[in-house]
Amino acid sequence: YQQKDFVLSVEGLTVSFDGFKAVNNVSFYIEEQEIRVIIGPNGAGKTTILDLICGKTKSTEGSIKFKGKELTKLREHEIVHAGVGRKFQNPSIYEDLTVFENLELSYPKGKKVWGALTFTRDQAVIDKVNEIAEMIFLKEMLQSKASLLSHGQKQWLEIGMLLIQDPELLMLDEPVAGMSVSERKQTAALLQKITQDRSVLVIEHDMHFVEEIADRVTVMHQGQVLSEGSMDHVQSDPKVIEVYLGH
Ligand code: ADP
Repeated sequence: YQQKDFVLSVEGLTVSFDGFKAVNNVSFYIEEQEIRVIIGPNGAGKTTILDLICGKTKSTEGSIKFKGKELTKLREHEIVHAGVGRKFQNPSIYEDLTVFENLELSYPKGKKVWGALTFTRDQAVIDKVNEIAEMIFLKEMLQSKASLLSHGQKQWLEIGMLLIQDPELLMLDEPVAGMSVSERKQTAALLQKITQDRSVLVIEHDMHFVEEIADRVTVMHQGQVLSEGSMDHVQSDPKVIEVYLGH
């Protein structure tokens, strides 16, 4: 656990909504190149943790350090700028634009380029769009309207739109929901590629997928961390078995 540096250190994180602690004294640490999966029953506080990290919700107590930088006092766009990307469940792609244009618009300088009356496409942008398109299995679809993509391809495009902003931590909420079996396999491969030089934090309910991708699993229950470790470890933890099978 001490070998690599932590990209993200969450310590004593708590948020109360009208006195109800949706997240209650949560601590966990994510290493460079790690795929961490948060699991747990509905209402366990998983989404709220992602909301807290990306600044959508402000904590009541605790600290979130990203590469040593405290995030809890920063605003959402500052957290994005610091290198934390989050994919929300509702799609944010432009259906009438091509895959290329969607990626180009998400490039950090893309918006300015697009807004100009006359614009020349910067070769660096073109290269980056091609590199990301290849990574998300959409190289052949670059000139297709996003509306023509399958559900799974749209999810990859959204991941690509985050990757082009070069985050060091990518947060995904149920990335394979609604995907076909082959799309799931490709998504697992994509996450492995992404973590060659980044870290990923995923909320996932599909235990087969969790088993396939997770370096470590954090099990949440009633706002707290119930168990943590490898999938094998948490699956055989009596506390986890009780929560999943006890009611
Ligand atoms: P999960 O993602 O694990 O299903 P959530 O993080 O969405 O759980 O929710 C945890 C608990 O916090 C739930 O009981 C939910 O109703 C509550 N909660 C989440 N956000 C708010 C909010 N903005 N105001 C009040 N209660 C909230």
